[in-house]
Amino acid sequence: MSRSPSLPERPRLDLDPDMSPSERLAALREHHEQLREVNRTLEEQLDAARQRHQELTDEVDKLERENETLKTSSLYVATAEEITDDGVVVKQHGNNQEVLTELPTKYTESLEPGDRVAINDSFSIQDELDAETDARAQAMEVDDSPDVTYEDVGGLDEQMREVREAVEEPLVNADQFEKVGIDPPSGVLLHGPPGTGKTMLAKAVANQTDATFIKMAGSELVRKFIGEGARLVRDLFELAAEREPAIIFIDEIDAIAAKRTDSKTSGDAEVQRTMMQLLSEMDGFEDRGEIRMVAATNRFDMLDRAILRPGRFDRLIEVPKPDSEGRTRILEIHTRDMNVADEVDFAALSAETEDFSGAELASLATEAGMFAIRDDRTEVTTADFEDALEKVTEGDHTDGVPVAFY
Ligand code: ATP
Repeated sequence: MSRSPSLPERPRLDLDPDMSPSERLAALREHHEQLREVNRTLEEQLDAARQRHQELTDEVDKLERENETLKTSSLYVATAEEITDDGVVVKQHGNNQEVLTELPTKYTESLEPGDRVAINDSFSIQDELDAETDARAQAMEVDDSPDVTYEDVGGLDEQMREVREAVEEPLVNADQFEKVGIDPPSGVLLHGPPGTGKTMLAKAVANQTDATFIKMAGSELVRKFIGEGARLVRDLFELAAEREPAIIFIDEIDAIAAKRTDSKTSGDAEVQRTMMQLLSEMDGFEDRGEIRMVAATNRFDMLDRAILRPGRFDRLIEVPKPDSEGRTRILEIHTRDMNVADEVDFAALSAETEDFSGAELASLATEAGMFAIRDDRTEVTTADFEDALEKVTEGDHTDGVPVAFY
């Protein structure tokens, strides 16, 4: 609060009775001059006080108006994209409209690009939303210790070896990379049909290395969190830094890193921004310590070459549907805890399930168990597997998603 300026001292007039009339006149003149000077100072002070009063009245009016708006209207959620000398560029969620609006004084210190704000109909910022938004929690799956191990993954020995070399080694043997003098690989891209174990591989590495597993699905970023993609990508890497050692798993990366098209819709611009953020996070990776990235896609052909540039993903690993031996192994894994009759021949079942994905084989095992339960038995027989096979192949399973999941 500003202090009032001190008042000038009041001039005094001392007239000696012995003064001659001319001396008396000179003294009076001098006193008059002093009084005028004091008057001038007081007038200046009064002007300044009036001006300050006006400023405070304006401020009160503005606050009252802001208060009124807050009380009367519902607010929209937007992201503060850019803060300039002219104000803030805010982007409203849902319609992606970008508007330049005034930055209220109370937010000048705290508001940063990327923060979420509440805006009214006239796009003026009414509130700053909590940084730890629910979107972050919704968009990411965080698992401190996933329970998938390498033993749970069947038929992917070669892929597992590659993933372990590129993701596990740099986490557990960082020193060795330093001694040899090479930059540790920052991540791998797994590509192949749905349900073949890509997520499992990433989870198994996290389990083995005691790393936090943080998953984000590219498709959700584009569909559910419109307008927030770039910010969520930044959050994802920030969260990984807070929780290192960490494995970032970006599923369906094609949704944000598809080849650029010529169309210029706002949706495309949004996807582009998300991808640019992802590329810049990946490029700044080396200094990030114990964070490794695993991305997965079913649409390798659609990926933008920029994401495949050397230095971004050190290895591109194909995860195909399992071969006959792999199918046998996956069936064994998924029946490990089941009471399966000795007569059941997994190699024979494997021959009957050509073109099945791991997810479909897992579903087949569960369905066989269901048939045994329906029949009030505790042991699962070949007949149950045959029935399950019939059920699972009833529909089209070529997309890798088990029919029984529908
Ligand atoms: P999507 O591309 O659809 O995300 P994905 O390749 O990541 O699929 P996962 O999520 O890893 O597939 O697999 C789904 C489920 O299928 C697993 O939880 C597991 O039960 C089973 N499964 C898939 N592949 C394998 C495998 N190689 N070994 C054992 N189980 C598997």
